[in-house]
Amino acid sequence: MTQLCLKHNAINLSQGTPAYQPPDEVKHAAIKAIQEGYNQYSITWGAPTFREAIAQKMTIFNNIPTDAAKNVTVTCGSTEGMLSTLLAIINPGDEVIIFEPYYENYGPDTIISGAKPVYVALRETYTENGELRFTYDVTELQKAFTANTKAIIINTPNNPLGKVFTLDELQQIANLCCEYDCIAVTDEIYEHMIYDDKQHISIGALPEMQHRTITVSGLSKTYSMTGWRLGYVVAPETLTGAIRKMHDFITVGAPHPLQRAGVAALNLPDSYYQELLQKYNKNRIRLVNTLKEAGFRCHPPEGAYYIMTDITDFGFPDDTTFAHWLVKEIGVGGVPGSSFYSRPNLGKTKFRFMFSMADQVLAEAGERLMKIKSKI
Ligand code: PLP
Repeated sequence: MTQLCLKHNAINLSQGTPAYQPPDEVKHAAIKAIQEGYNQYSITWGAPTFREAIAQKMTIFNNIPTDAAKNVTVTCGSTEGMLSTLLAIINPGDEVIIFEPYYENYGPDTIISGAKPVYVALRETYTENGELRFTYDVTELQKAFTANTKAIIINTPNNPLGKVFTLDELQQIANLCCEYDCIAVTDEIYEHMIYDDKQHISIGALPEMQHRTITVSGLSKTYSMTGWRLGYVVAPETLTGAIRKMHDFITVGAPHPLQRAGVAALNLPDSYYQELLQKYNKNRIRLVNTLKEAGFRCHPPEGAYYIMTDITDFGFPDDTTFAHWLVKEIGVGGVPGSSFYSRPNLGKTKFRFMFSMADQVLAEAGERLMKIKSKI
């Protein structure tokens, strides 16, 4: 979609790249680290000061008691963290449960690791007070667990739905993990982007899950530094050794000077996170209103910075045809919903927009989207 946007000079609301910059003090810390000589490899599983900062954050923010020496592996983004994790825990014949729609890497990561992906759909439902919720069917989830299940991948807040898993859901998943003796691998990269009264809960904080959860996260989104490639994996000591080996063989290590600056990022005051949330919340409300006015069916997401819309009312045969038309005729790019599903049919009427964008870009996108109805 990004290629198409470039070709047609369209506003790109498809890619998940933040529109913002890391705070100045974090950028200065990176420059300082380079000037002070931190230009060679760090310890392969992460610079000690950075691991300490991650352990502290995990213990306080995520409620997962974490030891920098025993539990933390610094990776080249959470993308590498997820792959190293699956390579570390998968044996031939294993199955991995993945909720769909999903962040696109989970399927390939599972297959590369030699496991069979088993998909469980997150479906639209409405609560008693009319609120849209995406959730799984309990029976479908139960059926997905077998004697071969090694892991279940959870992503909360979820890309592309913006779903935030509730305590009840996580408890249900935890019970199944215990029953089938499998591991929860959780990607929490959008953990600081949670709206309204929702709460971020790490499944690894549930007492029975502490020795069977691997938490994968990173600094890309929270500090607007996707190009720095700083991620981490927090795992029980028994699993950390294998993860570190995979990480070492794949990448050796994450950029050392940037890890030093990562400490400055993790030490930012609470006000940083509050301001970030305010910015994102403003964009969220603005784009939801714009999209509704333009004729999309959609609801404010609970977390992350994506809005999954329903395009049924526009009458296109499928989401991909709509995506091409929107870029060419309207000048706005988004992502066809089917690309987030193993069963593309489930996403045929869906279309994702992202809202980490500067005010003037969202304003211009809004003006363009208002022309949809007159052009159909
Ligand atoms: N996980 C999810 C759910 C994402 O949406 C993304 C990026 O869009 C990533 C991971 C990638 O993160 P990183 O930059 O840490 O590799």
